Amino acid sequence: MSDKQTMGFQTEAKRLLQLMIHSLYSNREIFLRELISNASDAIDKRRFAAIEDSSLDVGGEGYEIRVDVNEDEKTLTLIDNGIGMSRDDIIENLGTIAKSGTAAFMDQLSGDQQKDSQLIGQFGVGFYSSFIVADRVEVISRKVGEETATRWESTGEDEFSIDAAERDAPGTTVILHLDGEAEEFASSWRVRSVIKKYSDHISVPVLMLETPPSTEDDEEAAPEPSWERINEAKALWTRSRSEVTDDEYTEFYRHVSSDYQDPLSWSHNRVEGKLDYTSLLYVPSQAPFDLWNREAARGLKLYIQRTFIMDDAEQFLPLYLRFVKGVLDSQDLPLNISREILQQSPQVDSLRNAVTKRVLDMLSKMAKSDSEKYQSFWDVFGNVLKEGPGEDFANREKIAELLRFASSHSDDATQNVSLKGYVERMIDGQDAIYYVVADNHVTAKNSPHIEVFRKKGIEVLLLSDRIDDWLMGHLNEFDGKSLKDIAKGELDLGESTEEEKAELEAAKTENEGLLERLKSVLEGKVSEVRPTIRLTDSPACLVVGEHELGAQMRRILEAAGQELPDSEPILEVNTSHGLVKRMDAEQDEDRFADLALILLDQATLAEGSQLEDPASYVARMNKLLVEMSA
Ligand code: ADP
Ligand code: MG
Repeated sequence: MSDKQTMGFQTEAKRLLQLMIHSLYSNREIFLRELISNASDAIDKRRFAAIEDSSLDVGGEGYEIRVDVNEDEKTLTLIDNGIGMSRDDIIENLGTIAKSGTAAFMDQLSGDQQKDSQLIGQFGVGFYSSFIVADRVEVISRKVGEETATRWESTGEDEFSIDAAERDAPGTTVILHLDGEAEEFASSWRVRSVIKKYSDHISVPVLMLETPPSTEDDEEAAPEPSWERINEAKALWTRSRSEVTDDEYTEFYRHVSSDYQDPLSWSHNRVEGKLDYTSLLYVPSQAPFDLWNREAARGLKLYIQRTFIMDDAEQFLPLYLRFVKGVLDSQDLPLNISREILQQSPQVDSLRNAVTKRVLDMLSKMAKSDSEKYQSFWDVFGNVLKEGPGEDFANREKIAELLRFASSHSDDATQNVSLKGYVERMIDGQDAIYYVVADNHVTAKNSPHIEVFRKKGIEVLLLSDRIDDWLMGHLNEFDGKSLKDIAKGELDLGESTEEEKAELEAAKTENEGLLERLKSVLEGKVSEVRPTIRLTDSPACLVVGEHELGAQMRRILEAAGQELPDSEPILEVNTSHGLVKRMDAEQDEDRFADLALILLDQATLAEGSQLEDPASYVARMNKLLVEMSA
């Protein structure tokens, strides 16, 4: 009895397929890499299953992938003796977009085919890429430990059929019926060259039928073709660095990361001693779409003594290095390790420390030797690395050296100033690293708080990423210099300011009346009104206490729904400013009150905060404008 069944693809599958065909048309050969990669993964999984249950292990010739080209039938067939799939597995794996990554990817699509085509380059396209070259695909698979096989078939349009089938041994066979435009892949030499290109690093032998050159002697029967290995079949990371070319490293990156771009950098190390491991770690050149998704799969491919154990072993990387891809092959961990054991093994902690150090070293080397490349890393992953000082106290110093900021000393918003560079530029008598935090770069750059720093030629770091305030809170100091938010606390610009302190005292006495009047009008809104040395051009600015929440952090927490105690900042006024002088001379108490409120609201606006009562501010301003033009 045949229990043939026809099922519909999820609608996403169809869209994905069309996009893929469109975007990969000029690079169609990659379907072969995907299918070989799947076969190799399946063999890795079977090897792993056989650790527990040796009856699942393959006998005979060992693990292999066979690729068979039939030039007459225009078919290309891949046969592996990996883990195989049950009927349910096939439906799940080849019929639905079950993988969270793919589903999330589909969410990102804009509908603009041009844009979406670029996006797809960032993702593993996987099994569906078969349909780039085939108008019909058959899969016959039998799972290890099961007796029955299943056949899946589809033209890649709306549906697929599923049926009982025969297969002598566990494993999977994929038969591509090549379409008219892809007949080049019905040629052995063409297929062989593509496999060479993509599969040398795969540790499983890939075999093709080779016919030995016929001998001169016509009497003899034509030589029989035999299965020959055509790839190197040695796991790339087990080879020595000097033997591996950049192209091979790049190709391997694509295999482990499902990312189609070139990696930015990699680090390949073999370590013997107390810990015995090999790591091959890559920094991607582009952010994955789910970089900010807490649930996204991340981590290294874990091997133990060359045997594949698991994908996405996240225990070997801290969260702030979650963009790193690669392989970790340990000699010491037990083969029967589970995710639970990984969580609490001291050996895993040591490996994680070692891997973390490798990545940080790779990054600092890059920063030193190729600042342009480092900049492109920073632009993509800087905000992730900024989580580092909070997460990894032990490596705080190292991470701090890798941070880059925008600066008042440069014209654009590029984050390219290091703390080390800043310290080298510090002026005589300066003993702190100054920064300002705002919601965006322009607000930071034009912050009134910077005025005096500009006047004195002191550099200020301009921070405008959401994480920045938090980052600085964990950093505290660098190279013995404290990090100081210039909108907090009393401003002390070092020894050169004795004179200014005297001026400040004088300003206090001279303007006692004005300060008192301001204080009484702004009662309940500010905790104090005092003269300032911060300002040269603006009339006033707001300052919070040294240990209070900064304005940016406040906005973030409020937006997240946190109840915060009311803040009463300090209003600092520039007593030499025309507006402030005019206020001092103002006899009409109502008008004075209007001006005082405007002064406060303007200081609030300048730091990028919202007014509590914008309508009243507008009304007050308009009243003044009308009086002015009267
Ligand atoms: P990915 O490999 O990224 O998971 P694919 O689209 O390439 O995505 O494959 C989907 C799934 O189908 C795989 O995860 C695997 O479970 C299954 N699969 C594909 N090819 C094979 C194969 N040759 N043997 C066993 N399972 C396979
Ligand atoms: Mg795949």
